[in-house]
Amino acid sequence: MSTAERSETRTWCPSGKADAPEAVVLGVRSGQGGEVVYLADPVPARDVLPVVPKDVEPTRVLRFASHCVSNCLHRRGNDCTLVERVTATPADESRSVPRCHLRSHCKWWEQTGVDGCRRCPAVATTVVEGDDLGALVADPGTTREQLDAWIAADPAPARGADATGSRPA
Ligand code: SF4
Repeated sequence: MSTAERSETRTWCPSGKADAPEAVVLGVRSGQGGEVVYLADPVPARDVLPVVPKDVEPTRVLRFASHCVSNCLHRRGNDCTLVERVTATPADESRSVPRCHLRSHCKWWEQTGVDGCRRCPAVATTVVEGDDLGALVADPGTTREQLDAWIAADPAPARGADATGSRPA
């Protein structure tokens, strides 16, 4: 799928659902500390999912992009509250903005620009056990005050966030 094949008006979630019909692979969690290394071009998720071992959750090793949808748990009006929480976490300001194929359609870029992009590689769609900050960021009920208090108590750099708007089963 080329960028040109995407709807020009549609915004996309950079931590989307692997099983959405339109889902594409955004990147591979293979960098330092599991950070995302972005693909130069989108690859349909349906082409990749069959080769992920059955005992591996795809979002543990890959990040997917899918349509930003109005019934997402992280939506408030037209805004994404997830990226608000992501951008509340510490970031290395000297870090360059990654090159990625999603930018012209990305909800996080549209809403937060480089602030979201600087933190984007550290976001994990599925929170690993023990990643308390990631769990807080992923929780739509977390307030900015709660996040700020957690960060003030433990100023270690953000490790990631569970970041799909999937509703609990
Ligand atoms: S790097 Fe920026 S534009 Fe690319 S997916 Fe992440 S937030 Fe969106």
